[in-house]
Amino acid sequence: MKILMVSSEAVPWAKTGGLADMVSALSISLAELGHDVRIVIPRYYPIDRAKLKLLPGAMGVPMGGGIQEWSAVYATDMPGTSSKNPVKVYFVDHEIFFGRDGIYGNAVETDFIDNSRRFTFFCRAAFQLCKKIKWYPDVLHAHDWPAAVAPVYLKFAERAAGASGEFKKTVSILTIHNLGYQGIYHKDNFDYAGLGWDVFYNGGFEDWSMLNMLKAGLYSADKINTVSPNYAKETMTQAHGFRLDGVLRYRNADYCGILNGIDTEVWNPSKDKYIPETYSLEDMAGKAKAKKALQKEFGLHEDPNIPVIGMVTRLTDQKGVGELFGPTYGSAWSICRDMDLQMILLGSGEYWCENEISGLSSRLSNFSAKIGYSEKISHLIEAGSDFFLMPSRYEPCGLNQMYSLVYGTLPIVRSTGGLVDTVQNYDEKTGNGTGFMFEQLNPSSIYNTVGWAVWAWYNRPKDIKKMQERGMTQNFSWESSALKYVELYEETFKAQGMKIPAGNEPDVPEIVPEKQKKEAPKKETPKKEAVKKETYKKEQPKEKTAKSKKSAPAKTKKSAPAKPKKAAAATTPKKPVAKKTKKK
Ligand code: ADP
Repeated sequence: MKILMVSSEAVPWAKTGGLADMVSALSISLAELGHDVRIVIPRYYPIDRAKLKLLPGAMGVPMGGGIQEWSAVYATDMPGTSSKNPVKVYFVDHEIFFGRDGIYGNAVETDFIDNSRRFTFFCRAAFQLCKKIKWYPDVLHAHDWPAAVAPVYLKFAERAAGASGEFKKTVSILTIHNLGYQGIYHKDNFDYAGLGWDVFYNGGFEDWSMLNMLKAGLYSADKINTVSPNYAKETMTQAHGFRLDGVLRYRNADYCGILNGIDTEVWNPSKDKYIPETYSLEDMAGKAKAKKALQKEFGLHEDPNIPVIGMVTRLTDQKGVGELFGPTYGSAWSICRDMDLQMILLGSGEYWCENEISGLSSRLSNFSAKIGYSEKISHLIEAGSDFFLMPSRYEPCGLNQMYSLVYGTLPIVRSTGGLVDTVQNYDEKTGNGTGFMFEQLNPSSIYNTVGWAVWAWYNRPKDIKKMQERGMTQNFSWESSALKYVELYEETFKAQGMKIPAGNEPDVPEIVPEKQKKEAPKKETPKKEAVKKETYKKEQPKEKTAKSKKSAPAKTKKSAPAKPKKAAAATTPKKPVAKKTKKK
């Protein structure tokens, strides 16, 4: 299949979050499966033109009000993809819209005032690009609100009656990476889209008299998905739907969740170049060394016998930082005061939170934080910690809990979104599970569940070891996710009453002379497609039924009975309060 990814971010060129990782990783995996995958992103100011190839000729993009925007197009191959079937990446270079620092905003203007126009133009430009290179995708795969108007153009312009017809066999998918961001702007911006005002209403843009770009995409895309099955369910409820739950329920038949994968080349303890010594299930010595190095890096007492709780996070409300670090009510202070543990954090974000964290660092001897962004330290935290804390308010997929699992670091998470799909709650009776979960987001739930995990660390070392082993053998590779996307693409063709493209069309060069085009040979690989689907079916993961433990109690090393057996007796589930009691 020919697949065009339309995205505002893609690593290694532009990243603010998991979207950038996902777009590139999925594209690479799809290309490895034999598909012809291309990505289009804007050329932001920091992307060095000198490292890209300029396509000949300017590209005109017709917008509303008779405006013709002009841009250049640059291209390169995605690093790490094979030269036989590389993922081609195109950069739309429009100086006024994208020649500035920041993708969506900067320190002064957090949401650029012309974002609606910038990304509407970008969506239109994606089609002009295809026309320019004479390559028409079978699948147009748009990501999040900045690309959400692309399926609208497909439906109401390129596939509509009277259109030139190059995209009549193209289907569209819209992936929601975070429903909290929708691209809501004043409706005065709509004229610029060059779509009639009937589309403003029929195409789903209208949102309480404002213009909502994501909502329009949700109305218009042939299929919609999000980045985990559980988040797909949650977003159809009022509690997690960010006012679009009704639209998603309306599109229920065309909506699903596909779990993101992780980059197993980068996030792999047996290959990790950022940690002092690599390790694996067979030889865990490297994990102990990483713990020592982590404690040193954060200026904590280098003690292998104390559990370390790690965090790497954006400091925003979504991540539950209010309940953890909120002035006077957050539970981080009491966790560190009451429990025999060390807590480590790497993150940046809201100013109040950075301030509170700095305050805690200076007052608590067992809490240490670094405010900032560091790829290297984030790897060290994943490897060197015993537990990884994610008290998220909502989490569409979440990557860190998957990294934690494969690094033998047990996640302590709120049961929301993708965390439910990836972490299995600890069961004291059987020893089963891969992490510790809680349902309600409030300071005492976090306190109790951290306490429960720490109690298990001191009192149930065998269970902890088994949980580590289970986590480290999980398969979160992109390959299985990519196969599910192939299945989704195929379903979309079926639902549209279209034929599923049999294989890859010949790779047409950017500017094709007429003669050469006619001579291009046709390759068909229907057998390969059939094999792929079967593999996918076999690899369907079993649904997990993780239940979270309500009001799990805190226990500290100081309060832990000397013999684990006694501890077990004292913590029979019938009397959970006993676990809370400190030994006097
Ligand atoms: P989100 O995209 O909502 O921030 P995810 O868990 O999906 O959350 O992905 C976040 C990614 O960004 C992870 O790879 C995480 O390790 C990384 N990250 C977040 N904050 C930092 C930081 N301060 N330093 C290094 N990496 C970070």
